[in-house]
Amino acid sequence: LGSGGPELTGQRVSSSYLISINNKAAILMDTGTGSSYNFARSGAKFEDLEVILFSHLHVDHSNDLPAFIKGSFFTLRAKPLKIYGPTGNALMPSTSTFIEQLFNHGGVFRYLSDYINKEENGDYKILATDVNSAFNTDNTAINNEAAIQTFKLNDNATISALPVHHGPIAALAWRVDIGKCSITYSGDMNNDYQTLAILAKNSDILIAHNAVPESALGVAANLHMRPSQIGAIAKKANVKKLLISHRMKRTEDNEQETLRFIREKYQGSVVFVNDLQKFNLEK
Ligand SMILES: [Zn+2]
Repeated sequence: LGSGGPELTGQRVSSSYLISINNKAAILMDTGTGSSYNFARSGAKFEDLEVILFSHLHVDHSNDLPAFIKGSFFTLRAKPLKIYGPTGNALMPSTSTFIEQLFNHGGVFRYLSDYINKEENGDYKILATDVNSAFNTDNTAINNEAAIQTFKLNDNATISALPVHHGPIAALAWRVDIGKCSITYSGDMNNDYQTLAILAKNSDILIAHNAVPESALGVAANLHMRPSQIGAIAKKANVKKLLISHRMKRTEDNEQETLRFIREKYQGSVVFVNDLQKFNLEK
């Protein structure tokens, strides 16, 4: 739905990806600014959605959640809405705290409290789950396959996550497996934890965020992976298709250089994506 970053360019909606199963909305990954508008433009119906996955809670990944929840009042939604996202840290609230501070009594949108409180009458409830985003759990490193956290959505679909390093921000990468199809989403990250290639192993699609050019240094390189790292991860994970997103001024019009660095490692299909672009997976 959204292929941009947090900039005010008027060109792209912020991060958001919708996975539909048999043409019905099922899984929404991030709800960046403008995503609720493009969700509707895509023809998706909010009452069909099973789950929202948050990579992290920066504004350009989470901002439209209240718009979706308010908008849902005008839909036929009756089933619970599952939301999974990172545990918190010193800088960021956990996903469940984020939702409470938005919607609970005392929160900024307290007038929507019936969407989270069991004792209040509402059309449906939000069910939030915090997923470990810390590098060490009980002093166990998370950059191995055994550390992948997997949740069953239904008989045909699972969601899985590993922590990723996004500077000081609590952050996750997500993988969705539906039947024999698999999609992995990096969220925002540099590759300090070296987890993404483990999670993305043999994915049909890897959505990778390209927020900085190869020359990035300092804060930008602490937050985001360079094109050469994207290529190395795609190669190591043996993904079939690489979608480049989170496109910003500092990387747009620089695609030839970005592609050159990716191509040094990865020879598969690479697409620089735009808002509302669709990809079909059939197996
Ligand atoms: Zn971002």
